[in-house]
Amino acid sequence: MSDRIWNFNPGPATLPLSVLEKAKNELPNYMGTGMAVMELSHRSKEYSAIHEQANQLMVELFGIPDNFKVLFLQGGASLQFATVPMNLLKPGKSADYIITGSWSKKALKEAKIQGTVNVAATSESTNFNRIPKQNELKLDPNALYCHITSNNTIAGTQYQTFPDTGNVPLIADMSSDILSRKIDFSKFGLIYAGAQKNLGPAGVTLVIARNDLIESAREDIPIILQYRTHAEKDSLYNTPPTYSIYLVKLVLDWVKSLGGLSAVEKRNTNKGEMLYSTIDSNPEFFKGAAEKDSRSLMNVTFRLPNEELEAKFIADAKAAGFGGLKGHRSVGGIRVSMYNALEPEGIKKLTEFMKDFAQKNG
Ligand code: PMP
Repeated sequence: MSDRIWNFNPGPATLPLSVLEKAKNELPNYMGTGMAVMELSHRSKEYSAIHEQANQLMVELFGIPDNFKVLFLQGGASLQFATVPMNLLKPGKSADYIITGSWSKKALKEAKIQGTVNVAATSESTNFNRIPKQNELKLDPNALYCHITSNNTIAGTQYQTFPDTGNVPLIADMSSDILSRKIDFSKFGLIYAGAQKNLGPAGVTLVIARNDLIESAREDIPIILQYRTHAEKDSLYNTPPTYSIYLVKLVLDWVKSLGGLSAVEKRNTNKGEMLYSTIDSNPEFFKGAAEKDSRSLMNVTFRLPNEELEAKFIADAKAAGFGGLKGHRSVGGIRVSMYNALEPEGIKKLTEFMKDFAQKNG
């Protein structure tokens, strides 16, 4: 552990050390096959077992109901920005988009190419420092779906409660908070996430879609981009990113060993309390970037009294073994990304560093 840093990268992000060690041990010879997982055929019985277990663990840990299908795709969340409307936005109909950051804007931009979209709300006028409230939403009851970004990686905001869209299915980009807390699937039609924050390495994109939406999706788009293609073939229509899926499976085993999603949720809440209470206890020095009722438990954004101190904070933190703390250029300041795999001890150590830094420089 001594040569590992406390890694607060926003994604790709830290992975559990036990997962990395298991992968290392299994790397040259997976289960006596004499091959690495990445050398196995994706049709082999050994890889099939990994693929199946990753799927089953996801269903079990996230509590995914029977009427949903789990897909392991490629192209990142960014490809989903396009494939969601390609599959689900139909002529003569429209979709609602709630804009809470630059990732939502990118999703909107792709959807506009495919069809008619309505911006139901946006918090851009305050630099995305909050999640719009229910009474601000201009929802269309006839929309085919309503798209949200559940956690805004850059701004550091997160939905505490999901919008009530009536019978209109929610579609959520959960790239930066998937499997960090329990969710009520009855509100959702489709969820997607790049794996590289809470689930594993980059290279695999998770899509969890309701069967009726998959079945009724458009057929006049490229076959490779149709959800039904991948659903019918259990995500083996083409060669899946086998090694990334194997690592996702190891991460899910680790989540299970912690005690499942309830334990993970509690752990994330505790980390959030530790960090936000440190910020709030010294409002002269630390200024949280997000409004309190919109604060994220995954990406915590804050400013120091001036940019020189922010640069010093990042440099001193790096020297003390804390990496990845520089805020995104659109927000500035500091961003602490603390996904599931970030150990609470790392947050404890960081808050000690923050208090010490404020005392010396305040
Ligand atoms: N959505 C969100 C919320 C993100 O944080 C990111 C990446 N940081 C993306 C989408 C884009 O994901 P990808 O790079 O996997 O396409």
